[in-house]
Amino acid sequence: MKKILVLEDEASIRSFVVINLRRSGYEPIEAETGEQALELIESDPDILLALLDVMLPGIDGFEVCRRIRAAGSRMGIIMLTAKSQEMDKVTGLMTGADDYVTKPFSPAELLARVDALSRRLDAEPVTEQPPDELKNGPFRLNTRNRTLEKNGERIRLTQIEYALMLYFMANPGKALSREDILSEVWGKDYYGDLKVVDVNIRRLRIKIEDDPTAPIYITTLWGFGYKWGF
Ligand code: CA
Repeated sequence: MKKILVLEDEASIRSFVVINLRRSGYEPIEAETGEQALELIESDPDILLALLDVMLPGIDGFEVCRRIRAAGSRMGIIMLTAKSQEMDKVTGLMTGADDYVTKPFSPAELLARVDALSRRLDAEPVTEQPPDELKNGPFRLNTRNRTLEKNGERIRLTQIEYALMLYFMANPGKALSREDILSEVWGKDYYGDLKVVDVNIRRLRIKIEDDPTAPIYITTLWGFGYKWGF
C-alpha cells in the first residue's frame, strides 16, 4: 500500500483526509506538527507522498516542504492551502511542492490530485523508451537515474521539474502549448488550472537559466505556451 503522510493540525480535517485516503487504498500516516512530520518522513523512506497543511502552530507547511526538498527527497508534495491565501499556491510551488489543493476541498478533488501524483511518481516511462541520456547545449538529462547536469554540475529537480525537462528536451525547438504541457506532465485527467504550468516553469527557470529574468533555454510563446531551444 502506498504510504501518504498527512500533516494537518486540525483533527477534524485530518481525520476527514485520512478516512478518504484509507477508503481509496492508501496508507495514511498522521502528523499534527511540522516537526513531527519531518521526523516521520526521516524514519520512513517508504512514504511516497505528503499532504502538507500550510498554517500550523510550529514551523509552517512551506518550511516543512523546503526542508524535505533540502534533504534531497523527491517525494510527492501537495500543499493544502486556504482559499484566502491565493499567494500561497505560488509560494508553495516555489518551495518545491508539486501541487496544491485549496480548502475546503471535496474528497473527489483531493483524491484526483493524489492519484494523479502517485501515478506519476511510480510511473515507469510508458511512452516510447527515451534514450538513457538527452543532451542539449550545456544540459545532460539522464533518464535512467533521472538527473540533470548543466555544464557538468548537478541540478536538483523535483519530479515535476524532471518531467518538464524531459518533455522539453525531447521536443527541442517545438512550440508546446500550456495544455500539452499540462496533460503530458500532470496527466490527462489532471484537475487543476494552467497556472500550475507557469509557476513550475518559473521555478525551473530559476534552476536552469543563466539569467532567469531573461530566459534563453525555455522561451515563452505569448498566449500559447513555451519552447525549448536556443
Ligand atoms: Ca492548519
